[in-house]
Amino acid sequence: MNNKEIIDLDSKYIMQTYGRQPIALTHGEGVVLWDADGKEYIDFFAGIAVNALGQSHPKIIDVIQKQAEKLIHVSNVYYTEEQGKLAKKLAEITIFNRVFYANSGAEANEGAIKLARKYTGKGEIISTNNSFHGRTLVTVTATGQDKYKEPFKPLPPGFKHVPYGDSEAIANAISDDTAAVLVEAIQGEGGVVVPPENYLKEVEAICNEKNVLLILDEVQTGFGRTGEMFAYELYGIKPDIITIAKALGSGYPIGGILARGDVATAFDYGDHGATFGGNPLGCAVAMTVIDTIESDNLLDNSKTVGNYLKDKLIQIKEKHDFITDVRGFGLFLAIELDRESAEFANKMREKGFLINSTADNVLRFAPPLIITTEHVDKMILALDEMFSEI
Ligand SMILES: *Cc1c(COP(=O)(O)O)cnc(C)c1O
Repeated sequence: MNNKEIIDLDSKYIMQTYGRQPIALTHGEGVVLWDADGKEYIDFFAGIAVNALGQSHPKIIDVIQKQAEKLIHVSNVYYTEEQGKLAKKLAEITIFNRVFYANSGAEANEGAIKLARKYTGKGEIISTNNSFHGRTLVTVTATGQDKYKEPFKPLPPGFKHVPYGDSEAIANAISDDTAAVLVEAIQGEGGVVVPPENYLKEVEAICNEKNVLLILDEVQTGFGRTGEMFAYELYGIKPDIITIAKALGSGYPIGGILARGDVATAFDYGDHGATFGGNPLGCAVAMTVIDTIESDNLLDNSKTVGNYLKDKLIQIKEKHDFITDVRGFGLFLAIELDRESAEFANKMREKGFLINSTADNVLRFAPPLIITTEHVDKMILALDEMFSEI
């Protein structure tokens, strides 16, 4: 099937919820993807910060094949070695003691909110304006963007929103009924918004002082995206809970809630569950993703190629005054424009580069962690050419 035939199928049989780019992707290798008409693209999008190891990574192909021959799913009625080994690994690479396995970011956040309510016996969750925490009714309520929730009222009670980057607003919003503060280390969907340097440290101190849990949503920032394994390391804080998903399976759907101290044991038997959560295939893949990030020094790559890309973006900003900001860490970068960005993502796609337009006027760069400076050079050349045509 070609692009048009696949798009026609979609428009007839799939609920039209996504604003999609008009191409159908068929296969990929590393950071290169091909569409159904045979056109080639270099990937600076990674399936929304998911494909940490790119496409068709030999180790991912190998682990999926081997695990599929053994066991794909057995339900959480039984134990599996794959779950236990990944949980131990997650505890070793973080400050957290235990994991609950979910299938997606929204499900991880939903579970984290339940965990915080169970632990504290309180109901209220404080989150920030312009945030994104998922699409379930609870997580869309926590999300600080009206467009995602307006049509779905009534929304569940117990949520308060405050401006992002303003720790005093959090201090003022906390009440006797506050269970937790839920916040992204860097707002992803909101446009790669980096908070003031001391913000998360201050939020941590406020939460400690007022006995409120700090839940850091690391669904997008986790697993090397910012150059550190997790963004809480970047800011030197110790949240009580983090939620993870996107890059954990490098494309295989798996997520999780990580908690430490007493919070890690607050769920009792029967309190929470997920049929698919932590199935052996997902856990085996995630284990391989983490091992590969470590063995192939992908945190270093995220930092060095990320800094290289950021420098190039800053140089481009200096040439074009309609670029108003360059920001981000590691391979989690963005430029902000004084105009809409969607048209530029389209033009870059036509030139053979997948980048993402978000928050109306932002172009987000979140390539696989295996990207090289050669790929960056090609993309920057095309970006500069495009902006010079304006
Ligand atoms: C993508 C994202 C989510 C939602 O994850 P899904 O897997 O789409 O449910 C939640 N929080 C953040 C910060 C995200 O970027």
